[in-house]
Amino acid sequence: MGPVRASGFARRHGGDLAVEQNGGCAQPRCEEVGGDVAELQALCARMRAASLREPPPPLRERRVRLDALRGAIAARREEIADKIDADFGGRSRHETLLAEVWLTLSSIAHARSHLRAWMRPERRPVNWPFRPARARVIPGPKGVVGIIAPWNYPFSLAMIPFASAIAAGNRVILKPSEFAPRTAALIARIVGEALPPECAAVVTGGADVGAALSRLPLDHLFFTGSARVGAEILREASANLTPVTLELGGKSPAILAEGFPLDVFARRVAAGKLFNAGQTCVAPDYVLAPEDAVAPLVAALRASIARLYPSLRRNPDYTAIINDAHIARLKAYLADARERGAEVIIIDPAGEGPLDDVRKLAPALLCNAPPEARVMQEEIFGPLLPIVGYRGLDAAIAYVNARPAPLALYCFDRDARRVEDILARTRSGTVCVNDTVLQAAQDALPFGGIGPSGMGAYHGREGFMTFSHARAVLYQHRWPLAALLRPPYGAMFERVLRLLIGRPRDKETPCGK
Ligand code: NAD
Repeated sequence: MGPVRASGFARRHGGDLAVEQNGGCAQPRCEEVGGDVAELQALCARMRAASLREPPPPLRERRVRLDALRGAIAARREEIADKIDADFGGRSRHETLLAEVWLTLSSIAHARSHLRAWMRPERRPVNWPFRPARARVIPGPKGVVGIIAPWNYPFSLAMIPFASAIAAGNRVILKPSEFAPRTAALIARIVGEALPPECAAVVTGGADVGAALSRLPLDHLFFTGSARVGAEILREASANLTPVTLELGGKSPAILAEGFPLDVFARRVAAGKLFNAGQTCVAPDYVLAPEDAVAPLVAALRASIARLYPSLRRNPDYTAIINDAHIARLKAYLADARERGAEVIIIDPAGEGPLDDVRKLAPALLCNAPPEARVMQEEIFGPLLPIVGYRGLDAAIAYVNARPAPLALYCFDRDARRVEDILARTRSGTVCVNDTVLQAAQDALPFGGIGPSGMGAYHGREGFMTFSHARAVLYQHRWPLAALLRPPYGAMFERVLRLLIGRPRDKETPCGK
């Protein structure tokens, strides 16, 4: 790992690890420090000392911080779109403005408007022998938290949890993805403009920096990314007993029930699948369709895709694949599936041929891919859509349940009873009924996986609570009834006990026999 540099306003850094600690001041505050892991540790220690020295920020201060963040993001919306476009080598500007800028601004506005209610201590009842004491749950900041973000939505997947952590009153060390370096530098600049010193720092770099961050004695570590790295993070964090939230991925099915209109299904699945060219953690990974609907569904999907993207190569709406390694991975899935006998249908509406020169990949439908094919085993994270035929809804549910619990489940059915049945008999982090992806864009719904698709949740109130400690506080009364429960235990104690658990029976026998 290279040298660490801490600076006020973002500067270009040459080292492997750059710590961009914001200044929140009119003048750039540039502080040059040597070291690497030690420097990250020192940053964490400085933040910890500040969080112990100063009381948690009150509502007003947190709102000022959220407003500053919102203002800095809104002012740079076009720059955000430009940087992400450059990092992807072609990312739909409209998708960036919607899924990165608007979603982030919306989540900040939601937190700001609900913050007073979320921060309010909650009264809880006291067990009657301890009355008239009072009880409350007081949410407070956890302290110093770390956030590690992925590349696929490099802005919103860094900034939405970041804003939640700030709303909860924490100090934050944020590491964006190294695969979107221009966006990472811009995030550092935005955070630097918006927030006061020692409140937030952005560290840029690769896996080694993420690993160093996960080894810090943080009060919480929030990770979005692959299951493989998630497991490493969990291992590293366990040494300090750092609580961890893991936002992972998986293979999210879209179930088409008998009788649901094919054209509606095809339109909504194609739109969710091809948003960001399939590089979305909640994109429908594969389709489960009644066997006799597979052929007409292929036709409907082909038509829907052609309507959404009449051409691909120069179409600014159709996003590129992030890098050559991911193109190679996706092509390897196609080759492997073909070799194993799958039918691969490339959708190339304008007949443009291979798109390697623009690092794009045409959408592909795959039929009859065997279960052992890589495309049926691994998370696809690209514009390939396998279609699996089923006979009877029970078989579709069994197919889903025979695999690791996904991040999202989509079911398309106009029969409300059957929908409830599908929900009751399957597991997934989130669900969207009769559409795809949109459940992840709801500020008031928790977002997170289950089992191998993740642990913990964020967005809205759940995001605030993820970064808060719900502290239980009991306020004892001047004249507590509980004084009767102290030794020496005598007749009075026995009487209270009888009230609490009843009289002992004369002949108590095991198991009530
Ligand atoms: P990744 O796991 O490769 O990297 C994510 C982040 O972890 C990056 O910042 C990276 O630098 C860092 N990192 C890498 N190795 C590390 C280590 N050993 N210790 C600590 N940090 C390390 O994931 P990715 O390729 O950026 O993202 C794609 C994956 O993320 C997919 O599996 C996708 O499903 C998942 N994802 C999940 C969500 C969600 O909200 N659940 C959202 C987007 C992406």
